[in-house]
Amino acid sequence: MRLVKSEDVKNKTVLLRVDYNVPIDKERMIQDNSRIIKSIKTIEFLLSNNAKVIIISHFGRIKEKKDLEKYSMITPAKELCRLLNQEIDFINRTDFKEVKNIVKKSQLNLIVLENSRAYDIDNKLESNCNDELSKFYSELADVYINDAFGASHRKHASTYGVKKYLPSYYGFLIENEKENLESLINISKRPFTVFMGGAKVEDKLLLIKKMLEKCDYLCLGGGILNTFLKVNGFDIKNSLASDNPETLKEVKELLEKYPNKIILNENVIWSGDKIFDINIESYKEYINSSELLFINGTPGVFENKDFEKGTKSLLNIANKTSGRVIIGGGDTASAINYFNMENKFAFISSGGGASLEYIANGSLLALEE
Ligand code: AMP
Repeated sequence: MRLVKSEDVKNKTVLLRVDYNVPIDKERMIQDNSRIIKSIKTIEFLLSNNAKVIIISHFGRIKEKKDLEKYSMITPAKELCRLLNQEIDFINRTDFKEVKNIVKKSQLNLIVLENSRAYDIDNKLESNCNDELSKFYSELADVYINDAFGASHRKHASTYGVKKYLPSYYGFLIENEKENLESLINISKRPFTVFMGGAKVEDKLLLIKKMLEKCDYLCLGGGILNTFLKVNGFDIKNSLASDNPETLKEVKELLEKYPNKIILNENVIWSGDKIFDINIESYKEYINSSELLFINGTPGVFENKDFEKGTKSLLNIANKTSGRVIIGGGDTASAINYFNMENKFAFISSGGGASLEYIANGSLLALEE
């Protein structure tokens, strides 16, 4: 797939897949609208080419009909309306025929469809990449554009299935992600240091292996560090760590293969018999001497005030360093938002799992031809 051009969309009806899976509070107020802001470049490009734009996204978890009250796309649609200062037609229906009719009759050039996961209520049509649903999506438009980087590792009807039936391109948000994450695939700046934290080592083992082939130093935190410490003979007591024999064997092999690259940290912060945070002082020299730094995952349970220090210090040091700093999406991006940090990072990915997969494989399912 390639980046969309004017001639692909001029005067056409475009189905635009975005990622408006934004965090909301109990009153359904959006807590971080950055994903919506990042989608505007492509939307304005399409509108300036006189295209009729039909927006589709997933939003929150939908298991039953009543979940749609909280996670109706009306909430992100209203925010988009405010940001663009433009009228939007929001379609709260999901019946194929009804939606097609409303889209056809709409006089507006900007339409937002209801949550794509609404189609999961019966038989998980969206998540199972159902062919009928993919066809229905394709019949709404002449062209399909994917700008939902954070969902592009998923083989769903609105990210993957639909592109079989329409000329398909990606938008400017994805172009920007590709350009920035590319610098973690073909390394031109050294020393290159990676910090990996977060809860589960299994989720990130593939990326850890890929990064070890490329980086100069790998600093660890969170449940990942606990697992490496455990394999290295440090008594982590009841802390979160992997018990999977296969994972532990792989971690052992990595520790043997890269003894000088993997930087462990025994300066841990306990609560009872569990490690919940680390003191990141010993990582400071690696961060400050790096020309390129990639941070993915948090060193501790930052959501709890008692264990936020490691994450806060790591992000503060990284924010001030002179090297180029790239932040993986997901929880690391949430932590930056949570601490209300002034953001001087070179790039914060809008994808969690998607950015990990893109860096590890150099491509994503939904971006393939
Ligand atoms: P991830 O989504 O894999 O980046 O994981 C981020 C989550 O890992 C955060 O919600 C943290 O609370 C959690 N986490 C970080 N360190 C620990 C730890 N030592 N024990 C348990 N959870 C942790």
